[in-house]
Amino acid sequence: MRILNRNSTFRMIDFQEFGGSQRTFITERQIIEQLWSALKLPIRTSRQRPVLNLIAKLFRDGWMLSADLEDLIYALDPRLEEINLDVSKLIAALRFSWEKVCFRPRSIATGVIEYNALRPEPIAAVLILLEQFGLQTPAYELVNKLLPSLKPRRRKILTVEELDILWYPRFRGRNSPVALGSENYDGDWIRMREDESLSTPAGYKARLYRHKTDDSMLLDVSAPRPRKLMQTKKMICTECGLEWLKGDPESSLLHRREHKKRLIYLRPLPLSEMIAEMSINENSELVTSASPMWKHEQMHLRAVAFRREMHFDFPQWVSPENKAAVAKTKAHGYLFTNNEQVIVGACSFQPGARLAEPDRWALDWVWIAPVYRGKGILDDRWDKFKQQYGNFWVSHPVSEAMQSFLNRHGDLDMMK
Ligand SMILES: [Zn+2]
Repeated sequence: MRILNRNSTFRMIDFQEFGGSQRTFITERQIIEQLWSALKLPIRTSRQRPVLNLIAKLFRDGWMLSADLEDLIYALDPRLEEINLDVSKLIAALRFSWEKVCFRPRSIATGVIEYNALRPEPIAAVLILLEQFGLQTPAYELVNKLLPSLKPRRRKILTVEELDILWYPRFRGRNSPVALGSENYDGDWIRMREDESLSTPAGYKARLYRHKTDDSMLLDVSAPRPRKLMQTKKMICTECGLEWLKGDPESSLLHRREHKKRLIYLRPLPLSEMIAEMSINENSELVTSASPMWKHEQMHLRAVAFRREMHFDFPQWVSPENKAAVAKTKAHGYLFTNNEQVIVGACSFQPGARLAEPDRWALDWVWIAPVYRGKGILDDRWDKFKQQYGNFWVSHPVSEAMQSFLNRHGDLDMMK
């Protein structure tokens, strides 16, 4: 699955595409025929000594020259040597780009020879991709050497080859199919007929398609245990209201995290700090710049809930992270508690919200958890608020629920 985000150059690489996100490659017909004949040969034992020597050399030099890579691939899967496969051509078809290197010149030298070479990570990626084509090129020798440098979490940015290495132990044999088409292959494999097929001892299933009329050709190889494409379903959580994709682990994880966070204010439980506060403070619901941080956290949570519900850009309460802003705030918050000493909602008053009326207070926002709505939470406090803040203004936009509340209390002029 290749997900292209229309708004940016961001491209999502699905784990099934590890080993190269582009899954169909084009090459000379002869290379495909050679690969096919190699796949049909019985497996040969890898030549372990040259493999280990070449890998040791790779780590000593930091590079592997193209000739050595050919030796490595031949040593891993001797069938490719038997059929005399042009490894350079295959690697070019698989879109790996060689880098140019040379040996350090002696002091008297005036020229060097340039070689094609690859670093260890692309070498591992080449082996991983060839294995996905059903060849016997296990990459674990290399992967095991490279993994320790990729595991630390502080390595935030990876190349696509490093991603292949990171995912190899987990997703080996589970990739989506890879294909190699001849140069005149037009992408329309439906009009082609399956000519031959075979299964490798490792369980890869290879099919060779030939065109009915022209001589185009396609080699298609699927993994032994391909994971089914994620069947995702859009869900809206009835408890927290979040939209998420069922079947997508990333989205489920996000939902679980967010769910927990949202339930703190949607299904609130008694808070020990608030219970203690209520026993010593007559005005325990009030939150000002002098209030303890936990109160600001509770206010901020509900300001975020209000923002989310009203689709505003910013929560209308200072972030408790910003201690300086908390110390300076002139707003008065209220944390509404019910008989069970649970914080069921909050509201905030702001002085001088309108330039023309610097002395008038404004009711900025009111948010009550949905399960506690319609229980008279705000009604119980309304007269006290009017005494405290006088003829305060109700900040716009005013929700329909708030309009009918004001209407009920004969206070519609508070919107003016
Ligand atoms: Zn939820």
